[in-house]
Amino acid sequence: MKCSACHMEMCNKTGEIDLRVNSRLFIIRNISYEECTACGEKILGAKAAQHVYDDIKNRNFTEETIKIPVLDGTEWSRQKGNNPGLNERL
Ligand SMILES: [Zn+2]
Repeated sequence: MKCSACHMEMCNKTGEIDLRVNSRLFIIRNISYEECTACGEKILGAKAAQHVYDDIKNRNFTEETIKIPVLDGTEWSRQKGNNPGLNERL
């Protein structure tokens, strides 16, 4: 299978992927998927995707608290506006 983003060859892997469904983040473990060796694009096969969406729809999942690194760009955005150095460069 070729990557839809960069058309490089994809290889089959089994492991953990993350997926956003209705703006909620899900982690799916021990699933088989295709990963692009060049850009890292990951896709599920049609059958696996159907299982995932069915399980989400039927709330057939457990909830765990995991630590995810979170970054906040508020500070940078503000600095950008007030930064005379940047304005001089523009
Ligand atoms: Zn790719």
